[in-house]
Amino acid sequence: MVLVATVLLAEDDPAISEPLSRALEREGYSVIAAPDGAAAVDAALTGDIGLVILDLGLPQVDGLEVCRRIRASGRDIPVLMLTARTDEVDFVVGLDAGADDYVGKPFRLAELLARVRALLRRRAPEVIEIGGVRMETGARRVMVDGEEIGLANKEFELLRVLMARAGQVVTREEILAEVWNDPGMKTSKTLDMHMSWLRRKLAGDSSDLDRRIATVRGVGFRFDAG
Ligand code: CA
Repeated sequence: MVLVATVLLAEDDPAISEPLSRALEREGYSVIAAPDGAAAVDAALTGDIGLVILDLGLPQVDGLEVCRRIRASGRDIPVLMLTARTDEVDFVVGLDAGADDYVGKPFRLAELLARVRALLRRRAPEVIEIGGVRMETGARRVMVDGEEIGLANKEFELLRVLMARAGQVVTREEILAEVWNDPGMKTSKTLDMHMSWLRRKLAGDSSDLDRRIATVRGVGFRFDAG
């Protein structure tokens, strides 16, 4: 699972793509903008793209064809279609082409961002099991060495973010953006508090609180399998 997903934004109208691109970056995604269909296909088939936001009416190659080509390539990238044509037939055709969801124009930014999050979440694995810790994301359950532990919502999200990238450092900024929706570090102290609770719960009877989550000074944290 990619934590900081790259969103490919294929939209030819800068009045839409520019503010939308900024909003996506504020949400913590990295954004690749494609102003036409050919560029969109190119980026989708060569880059490490987590999700495509695809305008139906694109120059050169239209959104439907872009979607068909992505699907024909066998790449399993979620596609969120944007369309100003609001009649049902176009929606169905859009979904027939292999889009996972659609939003009608004009859209509310909050709704679009919620759809983006939902599509990316759908792609996340249901069960992650590393080093004796088993996380069932659907059931929101965590077992440590076979025993269920009770985690509060933020502790669960924190662990999910770390386990999704086990063995790698996850920066404080990334954690704050993902768990607290705050890339601005305002909740940095809150993060430390929750991290300390989470560590205590993961440690169980052991006094070694850093056994599973290592602090990487000045950078962030790393979930270790050992
Ligand atoms: Ca357009």
